[in-house]
Amino acid sequence: MTHRPTLRALAVAALTTVGAWNALPALAADPAAQPTRNVLRPEPDASATADARFQRLANDYIEALWRLDPDAAIAAGRYEYADRLPAPDSAMRARTLAFASDWLRRFEAVDAATLSAASRTDLGQLLNKLRSDRFQLTELREYEWNPSFLNIAGPIDYILATDYAPLPARLKTISARLAQVPAYYRAGAALLKQPTLEHTQLAIDQAPGVLGVLDEVAKAAQGPDAASLTAAERQQLTARIAAAKSAVNGYTARLKQWLAEGKASGKARSFRLGQALYEKKFGYDIQSTHSAEQMYQRALQAREALLTQMSQLSDQLWTQTMGDAPKPEDRFARIGAVIGKLSERHVKREDFVKEIRAQIPQLERWINDHDLLTQDASKPLIVRETPVYQRGVAGAGIEAPGPYRPQDRTYYNVTPLDDLTPEQAESSLREYNHWILQILNIHEAVPGHYTQLVYANKSPSLVKTLFGNGAMVEGWAVFGERMMLESGYGGNAPEMWLMWGKWNLRSVTNTILDYSVHVLGMTEAQALDLLQRQAFQTEREAREKWRRVQLSSVQLTSYFSGYSDIMELRERRRQALGKDFSVKAFNEQFLSYGSAPVSVIAELMSQPAAAAPKAQP
Ligand code: ZN
Ligand code: ZN
Repeated sequence: MTHRPTLRALAVAALTTVGAWNALPALAADPAAQPTRNVLRPEPDASATADARFQRLANDYIEALWRLDPDAAIAAGRYEYADRLPAPDSAMRARTLAFASDWLRRFEAVDAATLSAASRTDLGQLLNKLRSDRFQLTELREYEWNPSFLNIAGPIDYILATDYAPLPARLKTISARLAQVPAYYRAGAALLKQPTLEHTQLAIDQAPGVLGVLDEVAKAAQGPDAASLTAAERQQLTARIAAAKSAVNGYTARLKQWLAEGKASGKARSFRLGQALYEKKFGYDIQSTHSAEQMYQRALQAREALLTQMSQLSDQLWTQTMGDAPKPEDRFARIGAVIGKLSERHVKREDFVKEIRAQIPQLERWINDHDLLTQDASKPLIVRETPVYQRGVAGAGIEAPGPYRPQDRTYYNVTPLDDLTPEQAESSLREYNHWILQILNIHEAVPGHYTQLVYANKSPSLVKTLFGNGAMVEGWAVFGERMMLESGYGGNAPEMWLMWGKWNLRSVTNTILDYSVHVLGMTEAQALDLLQRQAFQTEREAREKWRRVQLSSVQLTSYFSGYSDIMELRERRRQALGKDFSVKAFNEQFLSYGSAPVSVIAELMSQPAAAAPKAQP
C-alpha cells in the first residue's frame, strides 16, 4: 500500500521543483538566532498593495510556465497548450534555463519585508523552485542519464481520461501531440550521454505501458463517443499512432543496446547520486535547516531510540503473545516474533474497505473529544474503491482535486484486495493488521493528509498547491500518527505502541537507506538486511524499496525529515510557552500557513504576535 499522497498537484511539484530557502534574509535559518526582528509586520496598506503586486507577478509566472511546459500544465489540470509536445533538445534546455534565470531575477527583486506572511512564504517557494530548476538543468542534468525522463504516456493518459472537453476534441489534441512524438524521442535520445543501467531498465520496462496508452487512444477513436470525427481525422490519428509506436519501439531498441553495452563495458553511470549532488538536492527538495548528513545522523539516533522502546514492549508482550516459547537474545528476533504474532489480528479481506470507511468518523470523533484541532465538516472525505483504471499496485491514498478544479471532491481511494491470491491477500492483511490499519487511516486521512489539505485550502495559495513542500506534507502525516497516540488513542496499549514503532521505523529507515545508498555506497545485500531483519519488513516490501531507492533520491527522506523538524519545533514551542502551550493551538497554527517548508513555518510561528497568515487576495 502506498504511503505517498496521490495529491496530483504535489506530483507536479515533484516533477518540476527544487531550490533552497536562502534568498529570504528575513526568514533565514534558525529562528532562535534572530529573536527581535520586526520585518514581519509592515504597514497594513503597504502590505496590501505589495501583496497584490506580488500575486500578479506570481500569476504571470505560472501562466508563462504553462506556455513553456505543456506537460506540467496538463499535470496541473490546464489543457489549453496540450496539443504541443516540445522536443526536449538543447535549444529547449537553453530556453528553459533562460526562463528560470529571468523569473528568478524578477522574484529576487521583490522586497520580502513588504509582504504578508502568506505572500512571503509563496515568494520563498517560488525562489526555491526556480533555483531548483536551475540546479536540475545545470548540475543534476538528469536528462543526460535517466532515459525514463522521456515518456509520452502520462499526459496522453490525462487528456484521454479527463473530461475537460468532448472526446472528439480531446482526440484531435492527442493527434496533434502524436505528430510530434518521433521528433520528441529523436531529440531526447540525442541528449542522453551516460544512462544508468537501472534507469535504462526502467524505461525499457515502461515501454509496454506507453504502447498500451496508444492502444487506448486507438480504441477510444473507434468508440461511439468519437463518431463526430471525420474519416480523414480518424485516418490521420491512426497513422500518427502507428508512427508514435514505431518511435517508442525505436527508442526502446536503442535502450536495450545501451543496456547491453553498459553492462559489458562496466562504464555506465552509477545510479548513486554522490555526496555533493545529494546535499544540494536535499537542500532544495526538503528545505530543512539541517543538512542531509545531519538528518541521517538524527535518523540513526531515532532508530536506536525506537528499537530500545520496541524491545521493551516486546518483553512486556512476550508471554501473552508467545506463551512458553524461549525468548531470543537478539532484539531483532524478539521484536520480530512478537510483531509476527500480533499481525495475525486483522480484518477479513472482504471487510477491508468497509473497515476503513467505518474508521474515519471514529478518528474525527476522537479529535473533537480530545480537542486536538478544529475540523471542517463542509468538505467531507469520500472513501471509495480506487477506480479500476487507476489501480496499479495495491494501495490507499488521498486524491485531491487539482488547483484548477476546486469544485471536485476529495477521495480516499482504497484498492480492495479482490484481485490478490489468498497468499498475497493474507500478506497485505497482516501488514495492515488491526493496529497498523488505524495508523494508516490517521496518516492518509484524519488528522493526516486530508486534514492538512483542508487547512491548506483555507488560505488558498496557487503557489503552494503547485509547488508545496513535500517534507512538510509527509512530515505532518507522520507527526499526526504520534500526536494521536500521545493523546491516548489506542488506549496506550503496548501492542499499539509496538506497531506504531514498526511503522515509524519505516520512515526512519527510509532516510537511513536513502543516504546510505546514494552517499555511503550501501550494497543491495546490506539494504535488504536493513529493511527486512532490522526493520521487520516483508521481502516483497524490502525489494520494492530497494528498487525505489535506486530510481529516486531524497524523496524517501521527506517523511522523517519533516516529522523530526516538526517534533523539534513543537518542543521549542513547548519550552518557549511553558504552561501556555496548547496542543490544539500548536496544531492549528502550524497548519495555517499551507504546505510551506517546516523551517519557514518555524520562523513564522516564533515571531511575536505573528499569528496566522491572512487570506490572500
Ligand atoms: Zn503520506
Ligand atoms: Zn490472517
